Amino acid sequence: MKFDIIVLGSGPGGYVTAIRASQLGFKVAVVEKENLGGICLNWGCIPTKALLKSAQVFDYLKHASDYGLTISGEVDKDFNAVIARSRGVAEGMSKGVQFLMKKNKIEVIDGFGKVKPGKKVDVTKADGSVIELSADHIIIATGARSRELPNLPQDGKKVIGYRQAMTLAEQPKKMIVVGSGAIGVEFAHFYNSMGTEVTIVEFMPNIVPVEDEDISKQMERSLKKSGIKIMTNSSVEKVDTTGEGVKAFVKTAKGEEILEADVLLSAVGIKSNIENIGLEETGIATDRDKILVNDFYQTNIPGYYAIGDVVPGQALAHVASAEGILCVEKIAGLHVEPLDYGNIPGCTYATPEIASVGMTEKKAKEAGYEIKVGKFPFSASGKAKAAGTPDGFVKVIFDAKYGEWLGCHMIGAGVTDMIAEAVVARKLETTGHEILKAVHPHPTMSEAVMEAVAEAYGEVIHL
Ligand SMILES: Cc1cc2nc3c(=O)[nH]c(=O)nc-3n(C[C@H](O)[C@H](O)[C@H](O)COP(=O)(O)OP(=O)(O)OC[C@H]3O[C@@H](n4cnc5c(N)ncnc54)[C@H](O)[C@@H]3O)c2cc1C
Repeated sequence: MKFDIIVLGSGPGGYVTAIRASQLGFKVAVVEKENLGGICLNWGCIPTKALLKSAQVFDYLKHASDYGLTISGEVDKDFNAVIARSRGVAEGMSKGVQFLMKKNKIEVIDGFGKVKPGKKVDVTKADGSVIELSADHIIIATGARSRELPNLPQDGKKVIGYRQAMTLAEQPKKMIVVGSGAIGVEFAHFYNSMGTEVTIVEFMPNIVPVEDEDISKQMERSLKKSGIKIMTNSSVEKVDTTGEGVKAFVKTAKGEEILEADVLLSAVGIKSNIENIGLEETGIATDRDKILVNDFYQTNIPGYYAIGDVVPGQALAHVASAEGILCVEKIAGLHVEPLDYGNIPGCTYATPEIASVGMTEKKAKEAGYEIKVGKFPFSASGKAKAAGTPDGFVKVIFDAKYGEWLGCHMIGAGVTDMIAEAVVARKLETTGHEILKAVHPHPTMSEAVMEAVAEAYGEVIHL
């Protein structure tokens, strides 16, 4: 059981790393304690998007008459079938990773892996037996789980995390969602669309707090319009689950409020899986719940690396994959540049969607830039009007002096598929005028990017 590279964990960090390593000629093993594909494919990115697709189709059917269509009979949902579809999609994706492992001749070893000194890994199998593996390079990609707050202990029934939220046997009539990051907002939107009465409780002054303030405000308006109640500057101090449902005691600016619901979803972030995996025995340095690494994901102990949600940086699937590829390319001796964490897109897949990259207006100002800001609303876009999705806008921020594209923030239908334009343009150090001279197809939502840039430079056509 000697390999060139052993990868601990098979999420979008681990399995992508293994494939790239195999392409580079290494003999690779992946150790996985659960399902291939990790959180992203089994409990994160993919099953949530399947649920959100059901919500979108349901919303379209409910609004069929807006498009001149009539539906004979009542439009209804089968909650269990919606959940089953999502699980089926996740299962299919995990099988896809199994296929990719075989195709790339990667050894998959089931069990719980623990790193040991001397570049060894112990794997405890389901039956309790332990096998020892060794490698020249060991990459830790054990990911993360739902973070539990001391005043919000998850019992998996009334106070739940994201895993339970996507597998509930019964649709709750009322739900409290604590935390309004991407995960909280996506679940709030899904359950609201299904007919659950949803209240979001957010500690910060704005929902989706990492986004540009204009985006947060628009999102708040849109979610409220769809029927979701939103409490900002509020925190759940304690919960009582002794009754039939759950009672949440919420501290607000105006005093305490008691909310009652069937379930409370705690969506307050994640906690890295760094416990019991041999870090202390091996001497691998950590800070709080993250493994410390350099620009090439090397830990302080030679031969041991870490990538993905277990290291600092945005906890996103595409970041985990990019880190893993970079890590093994460096091991292979290729010339690699450190990842630019300032050019990582972030997306929220509710209705409307949010997609952003780079600095918010506030951050750009704080950083001392003199800025040019352009904004183009989808209400002025022919494609958005035709599609019946005129909500939202594209906002761009440029450095006034040199034309550097500092930030791009979008909210609207399908914008998560549009943000890559800004990512590529920023990577290529494209200026605003170059975007303006790059002809965008008509009619598309992406024209709004060109128009927002034009607005920043006083050349907007359709406003
Ligand atoms: C509800 C939800 C929605 C999300 N949506 C998105 C999205 O739309 N887009 C996006 O980019 N990101 C999204 N994310 C985040 C994304 O899922 C993570 O950033 C990503 O999965 C991290 O990848 P990873 O490889 O670091 O870890 P993970 O995907 O967590 O994989 C780690 C793997 O390691 C295994 N493991 C752990 N410990 C051991 C051990 N000791 N031995 C063997 N195996 C072990 C685990 O079983 C797991 O399979 C979402 C997350 C959640 C929870």
